[in-house]
Amino acid sequence: MLESPETILQGAEILQKILGVQTCYIGIEENKPDAIELLREKTKGRSAMAVISLHVKYPQGAEKQLIKAITGREVPPGGLPMDVGSVVQNVGTAHAVCEAVTRNIPLIERVTTVTGFGIRQPKNLKVRIGTPLEFLISQCGGLTDHRVKVIMGGPMMGIAQHNLEAPAIKGTSGVLVFPLGDIFLEEEGPCIRCARCVDICPMNITPCHIATACEFEKFEEAEFYGAMDCIECGSCVYVCPTRRHLVHYIKFAKSVITARKRAAQSAEKK
Ligand code: SF4
Ligand code: SF4
Repeated sequence: MLESPETILQGAEILQKILGVQTCYIGIEENKPDAIELLREKTKGRSAMAVISLHVKYPQGAEKQLIKAITGREVPPGGLPMDVGSVVQNVGTAHAVCEAVTRNIPLIERVTTVTGFGIRQPKNLKVRIGTPLEFLISQCGGLTDHRVKVIMGGPMMGIAQHNLEAPAIKGTSGVLVFPLGDIFLEEEGPCIRCARCVDICPMNITPCHIATACEFEKFEEAEFYGAMDCIECGSCVYVCPTRRHLVHYIKFAKSVITARKRAAQSAEKK
């Protein structure tokens, strides 16, 4: 946003034109005042665009949460943003759209944050898609320890990597590296029905019920309790006093439900 504001705004205008969108809201959390100020300056005179300063909150980047925070509209369970007349794109996508349309450049690189106590010199890097994580880490002064945990993505939703040959992909927003001493491996306990996971869930579903249904392979029940609406934010796991692997169960339930639906659809076609 600070380095390429015009490219982002041009990309947003192209998206507006293609999709027939009347107003484009650019939501930025208030802990980035420099980006808010710059984009407000750049959008002066663009009447169909507004920059909205948002409270810092997690999770807020998911499309349903953003729509609620900016417009007050609620996407119904199982629904899509278009059901409430909205479409959400991130600034990286707007940038990529402008590059593709005006310069004929496909998506070949992205900005990635390489950070964590396991990295000697944390940096934001512009990386070619396909670059091995090992190379990114070497560009940041290397590791502080020979035993580390590497996560591709953010601290709540990122995925641990098996080795450093894994490539940066178009969704690699960050690479987090933790020394082993900073990692807590806690045993999973039984659900004590405290409902903390239910209270915290931004999608208003019941993670404890979905996880239990999944454990007993009752996937219809998991779907009934809203498994497919889970945005995998990890908030439920964070608050669970017995460290239930709730997101793991829910992801598994989602994959089984999706596979069953696909199988049913292809059986219908035959
Ligand atoms: S927070 Fe954990 S222990 Fe509490 S109801 Fe949810 S799954 Fe059960
Ligand atoms: S990860 Fe947990 S808290 Fe987040 S949406 Fe899914 S069930 Fe709700």
